[in-house]
Amino acid sequence: MKCGRCGNPIKKGEEMGYHGQILCEDCYMDVLSPAKICDPWATYIAKSASDKEITITELQEKILKILEETDGVETEVLAEKVNLKLSDLQREIATLRHMEKIRGKMKDGKKIICL
Ligand SMILES: [Zn+2]
Repeated sequence: MKCGRCGNPIKKGEEMGYHGQILCEDCYMDVLSPAKICDPWATYIAKSASDKEITITELQEKILKILEETDGVETEVLAEKVNLKLSDLQREIATLRHMEKIRGKMKDGKKIICL
């Protein structure tokens, strides 16, 4: 299975459906964020908005703390730690990514979330 957006192969079970498209986790998180990270203007707006309006929820604070302590973990591990469904966690991750609090990276061949 290939991602309908970036064309990267997707591991079985990690396919995300979005408007009839099959997307990888990264693209799925991207389309869930209203602004694209590569758009400087949108990032600027998101930043100035986050200063005024967006406050970090208790749950997001917990996620950030875990990431700080662990130096980055896999999404599945994080979901277990905060006792959340993967789909719910992905929404939180998308929000935090949008706020530029966290990012995804590869470590030992696995995709992890880190600060
Ligand atoms: Zn993709």
